[in-house]
Amino acid sequence: MVYDITLIPGDGTGPEITEATKRVLEATGIEFHWHIRQAGVSMVEKYGTVLPDNVIESIRETHVGLKGPITTPVGKGFRSANVALRKSLDLYVNLRPAKSYPGLRSRYEHVDLIICRENTEDLYAGIEFQRGTPEMEEMLDFIRRVTGQKLSHDAAMSIKYISVPASRRVLRFAFEYARANKRRKVTAVHKANIMRLSDGLFLQVAQEVAKEYPDIQFEDRVVDNMCMQLVQKPEQYDVLALPNLYGDILSDLSAGLIGGLGVAPGANIGEKCAVFEPVHGSAPKYAGQNKVNPMAMMFSGALMLRHLGERAAADRIEAAIASVIAEGKYVTYDLKPRPDDPTAVGTSQVADAVIARLRELS
Ligand code: NAD
Repeated sequence: MVYDITLIPGDGTGPEITEATKRVLEATGIEFHWHIRQAGVSMVEKYGTVLPDNVIESIRETHVGLKGPITTPVGKGFRSANVALRKSLDLYVNLRPAKSYPGLRSRYEHVDLIICRENTEDLYAGIEFQRGTPEMEEMLDFIRRVTGQKLSHDAAMSIKYISVPASRRVLRFAFEYARANKRRKVTAVHKANIMRLSDGLFLQVAQEVAKEYPDIQFEDRVVDNMCMQLVQKPEQYDVLALPNLYGDILSDLSAGLIGGLGVAPGANIGEKCAVFEPVHGSAPKYAGQNKVNPMAMMFSGALMLRHLGERAAADRIEAAIASVIAEGKYVTYDLKPRPDDPTAVGTSQVADAVIARLRELS
């Protein structure tokens, strides 16, 4: 089988880590037909956007994208490429694994978390009211009439919107992921003790969905307690399902538990399409220097293989990267004890080392 994949190298250091990742994916023996689409700051002059329509059209056709980071141009009026992709393709879940590997400098061992963040609503739905506008006045009047609360007019407002369909699909995704990947437990995270109606609804849907998956343990945690638990004993948690805002915060917290950006993969997934990419940005100051760590994008490539059902190849890539990290020899500056370590290797040498390890594992 040959997989059609839209490959978006991005800009900054994106093309270098994309090339390294492409080589590693091809070294598994799986065949890909890469539909290469350009996005990034160099597109602005021709298309007026960092993300030309042909990128989205290609992902609609192939259903799967592998994406390098894209620089957001400075100045007003530029929509973030990630927001545009998420909205156009209805990528409703942001999946972020956080796994510790021996050899990564971190305060923790045995972290193996999967964060499933709802990607489309909550306080991030963009329903906001500006201070001093007629719309804001109307909202304040409405609130006074309906709830009796007289709020200060010297204020702005963002609406927290939680729906049953969006909550249900992210929770089902979390349980399906747990089942497909032999994980033991899903924890729903909320603040239903205070936001009894919005977060309470998310919790209620979580409890209903959990009944559909009797083979997977289910529990819930209040978000503040969850933060403390993750810092104290992250090894007790497995798959987490969260509304948008808590998911955003806890996914960065979890990346911090395992040693940072250079190894943190991610994916945005919808019913029809999925886009896999590292969590980090384009690190433009290192562009063209063969310097930055390609492992986060390689791990994202492994996530993509899992999504395609190529679980054995995904396991092999992860094992090969883990072995390179554990040895500590062929790693970039960010994984060395000091960033100016002269023995640090470059992006393409990391790819060479991972490919050599993959061949040994075959
Ligand atoms: P960044 O993640 O690009 O870089 C911050 C710092 O982290 C870098 O200077 C570097 O020291 C380190 N770093 C990042 N990736 C690394 C890697 N693979 N290996 C080693 N070190 C690494 O964050 P930023 O500087 O805030 O953003 C740069 C640009 O990227 C901005 O325009 C931002 O909007 C964009 N961005 C894009 C995405 C995306 O496309 N998904 C995500 C985040 C940021």
